[in-house]
Amino acid sequence: MKNWCDKSEPPLVISSGLGSWIEDKNGNRYLDGNSSIWTNIHGHQHPVIDQAIRDQLDKIAHSSFLGLSNEPASLLAEKLVHLFPKDTLNRVFLSDDGSTAMECALKMALQYWQQKGDTKCQKRTQFISFDHAYHGDTLGAASLGGIGAFAGGYKEIGLPHHKIKTLDDLIKIDPSQIAGVVIEPLVQGAAGIKTWPDGMLKELRNWTHKNGTLLILDEVLTGFGRTGTMFACQKENVTPDIIGLAKGLTGGYLPLAVTMATEEIFQAFLGDYHDTFFYGHSYTGNPLGCATALANLSIFETENTLDHLPEKITHTKNLLEQISETTGVIGEIRQCGMIAGFDLKNKDATPLDWELLSGVKVCQLARNHGLITRPVRDTIVFMPPLNTSLEDIEFGINCLEKALLEWNAL
Ligand SMILES: *Cc1c(COP(=O)(O)O)cnc(C)c1O
Repeated sequence: MKNWCDKSEPPLVISSGLGSWIEDKNGNRYLDGNSSIWTNIHGHQHPVIDQAIRDQLDKIAHSSFLGLSNEPASLLAEKLVHLFPKDTLNRVFLSDDGSTAMECALKMALQYWQQKGDTKCQKRTQFISFDHAYHGDTLGAASLGGIGAFAGGYKEIGLPHHKIKTLDDLIKIDPSQIAGVVIEPLVQGAAGIKTWPDGMLKELRNWTHKNGTLLILDEVLTGFGRTGTMFACQKENVTPDIIGLAKGLTGGYLPLAVTMATEEIFQAFLGDYHDTFFYGHSYTGNPLGCATALANLSIFETENTLDHLPEKITHTKNLLEQISETTGVIGEIRQCGMIAGFDLKNKDATPLDWELLSGVKVCQLARNHGLITRPVRDTIVFMPPLNTSLEDIEFGINCLEKALLEWNAL
């Protein structure tokens, strides 16, 4: 708060956006280099999404989902189910944000085992999660996270779990007590764009099958084309038992999330009142949000969004390699589809002290040239909206190049 309230550096006030660009109240334009914190898919003020919101607004903005339903919510659920292989993730639970999607996934898994029947199942009360994971800020999800700043003081009072680094650590764990394994597939975003080895997800899936436990995927970031396919898990032909989706669900317009589950899990909640999954929020199934998500999904079809990604992904890769050469201050570059990040390094190869906030400085310098992004410590993230043009990708990476050269000269 001290930094935020520092009068010498007033916050940037954003007032409008169009396509991949956002504008501040003084009329300065910036490329939205982190998709407004990883959410935006088809750009700002997309005419199809804007119109869908206006049309829905002419009907109703919100009505309760508790004991009632609404058309956009039902249509959205149907559409989402069809994005996964037939008879897999058949059931959709609506909520409001990525943290809640994951919190619901965890509670759903625990309650599933409690209600499934036998006492053996009821022993499944623990989770497995990964070092450096990030699953959101609600208490349960945060406690499974592996980043100190977010999990912090809560991990002792959160959900019981085993934190592992790699799949090799699984042998140390008694699988009969595991309710589920939670993972961000292919890439850990908040950890600093850390990519998993190829085939790792498939191997984990085999382990959960072998040990009769649930695989819970956090695709809050990776969902909706961000990795190049609609969902990250498709790359390894894996379908989980439960999946959490949020960020890109409404194309970066409105807070909405879903937790999808298999029919098998749904069946455990198909009892009387006491078998209810008590997680109904005031804004659950918000019609404006659901109409927005439907429009977002329709654009993937009308604009063939996924077909245009390979050349953008390659362009990003080539340009980042280029500026690594020209600046000499880029360490490892990591990329998973349209999610890219690189570590800063000192020219003389001495380790960077992250408390010097070099990442923040580089992003500040890039801002002066017209790019907005946010670092994870000393990792610079580049993740523009999926429909960003090749020229604009080049513009953004040029801004990073200029910023890196200036930082290096400091
Ligand atoms: C952003 C994120 C979340 C939390 O989503 P919110 O909508 O910010 O609550 C959870 N998991 C992952 C992988 C994320 O990137």
